[in-house]
Amino acid sequence: MDRFDASGAELRVGGLPLSRLAERVGQTPFYAYDRSLIAARIAAVRLVLPPGVRLHYAIKANPMAALVGFLCPLVDGMDVASAGELKLALDAGADPLSIGFAGPGKRAAELRQAVASGVLLHVESARELQLLAKAAQDLGMPARVALRINPDFELRGAGMHMGGGAKPFGIDAEQVPAMLRSMHQDGVVFEGFHAYPGSQNLRGEVIAESLRRTVDMVLRLAQDAPAPVRYVNLGGGWGIPYFPGERRLDLAPVAEALAQATARLAQGLPAAELVLELGRYLVGEAGIYVARVLDRKVSRGQVFLVTDGGMHHHLAASGNFGQVIRRNYPVAIGNRLQSAERESASVVGPLCTPLDVLAEKLELAVAQPGDLVVVFQSGAYGATASPQTFLGHPACVEVLV
Ligand SMILES: *Cc1c(COP(=O)(O)O)cnc(C)c1O
Repeated sequence: MDRFDASGAELRVGGLPLSRLAERVGQTPFYAYDRSLIAARIAAVRLVLPPGVRLHYAIKANPMAALVGFLCPLVDGMDVASAGELKLALDAGADPLSIGFAGPGKRAAELRQAVASGVLLHVESARELQLLAKAAQDLGMPARVALRINPDFELRGAGMHMGGGAKPFGIDAEQVPAMLRSMHQDGVVFEGFHAYPGSQNLRGEVIAESLRRTVDMVLRLAQDAPAPVRYVNLGGGWGIPYFPGERRLDLAPVAEALAQATARLAQGLPAAELVLELGRYLVGEAGIYVARVLDRKVSRGQVFLVTDGGMHHHLAASGNFGQVIRRNYPVAIGNRLQSAERESASVVGPLCTPLDVLAEKLELAVAQPGDLVVVFQSGAYGATASPQTFLGHPACVEVLV
């Protein structure tokens, strides 16, 4: 099973009918993340990973502490992007040796915390390298570093570009050789490379091409490495379908490209361990956002379901402050799945802005105040990626079921 059970009159979430779950939570709106769906997704990913490839979880996709704790023993490591996420990973019991810390603009204090923790730093600038050398000397501990490369290619077809061209992330591939040759500070231990070309990628062929080109680049840059390359992190970015017409990622070309990448690295860099760091793909489909209908209004012929939740909890489903052409996430009236009475309705939130929309003119079961609106595909970049204090409404709750 890798979907929520929508076969009955009511959506079932973690084995419970939705309305009962809402009573258990004690309030709406809430996010619910399903352990069994997360575990099933991780198992599915493992099936396409060649032996020895390590699967990391990128915490920023969903940093709920219980979820991170649940995931920790199921993956081989964690990727963190702040001292706050580092604490979460360590609290969850992650082995510091298998935590990677990336992100532009790491503060000096964060770098010291990371060195003291013994995690691997994904270095994104010459300044970070200097600060790490200082921290290593002050603490009398090695600073373990991997260089984050801003690739010299751009991933066509990715939803969000994180590398290629001019970017604040990582070190331009052209500058990496000089940086590698200058890495002889006391206490700095070079372990390898990290590259992350882009997020929300739905095409297996594009991910496969990215893997091929990243491996090419790493093999080339490794010639200047000051020590054997032990770590090659090929990034995350596998996408999930959100909008009508989008199809699930085809893992077959990804599996083939991973097998090739593994073989090439085994030959060219025999000490290297290959790492993937996935966020959205592991948890995105395992979460829903649930809001209750407060009011039902008809304005000039259009039905509006006004709910207690909205863009302040779920910015992505609302369309990110109107910056993109708005498309509907999958939405249903979760306690009326089989209802034959259907209509076109817009689902909006309580905020005084026309941007507070969860669904626009979508065909839904006819709903009344008290009914539960469910937004699917909400397990990643939800609660913590939304402006929860905007307009002063209550925060949402998150549960793991
Ligand atoms: C955000 C992030 C990820 C995870 O990206 P997804 O698209 O959620 O898989 C991986 N690596 C780094 C460095 C990131 O910043």
